[in-house]
Amino acid sequence: MSLVIGENLIVSMHYKLTDNDGNEIDSSEGSDPLIYLHGKGNIIAGLEKPLNGKAEGDTLQVTVEPAEGYGEVLDEMVQVVARSEFDGIDEIEVGMTFEAQGPDGSMQSIEIMKVEGDDITIDANHPLAGVTLNFDVEIVSIREATQEEIDHGHAH
Ligand code: ZN
Repeated sequence: MSLVIGENLIVSMHYKLTDNDGNEIDSSEGSDPLIYLHGKGNIIAGLEKPLNGKAEGDTLQVTVEPAEGYGEVLDEMVQVVARSEFDGIDEIEVGMTFEAQGPDGSMQSIEIMKVEGDDITIDANHPLAGVTLNFDVEIVSIREATQEEIDHGHAH
């Protein structure tokens, strides 16, 4: 009896991610498949749900709207901060990106939008906010998670 995807299983899959214009955003092609513990929010909700019940060798196409993906673009995520906030960084240029800790403790990516003297305009929206995500997925393998993986909440 072969496994189908559900809670506490480790899924290995190849995927290709494109936007609505067909531009490739990300892909596992030519590298190792993505391996994750299913049912724990380790991948975006809009992709995790339709994988339920799929079996090894299955292929599927999933379209994830921004609300189920990386969220909508929020105006309030664009802010002007003082240059002194970037302690230890000598050159601040438009287009640079940083990883910063957000108010809820999670890591967020910020991009420099504008530099005017000491005023630095940053955009803390996720780079994929507002983007409809189109996944082409192929399930490579499915296995039971170990107790340690379940305890940790991720694949080893
Ligand atoms: Zn672990």
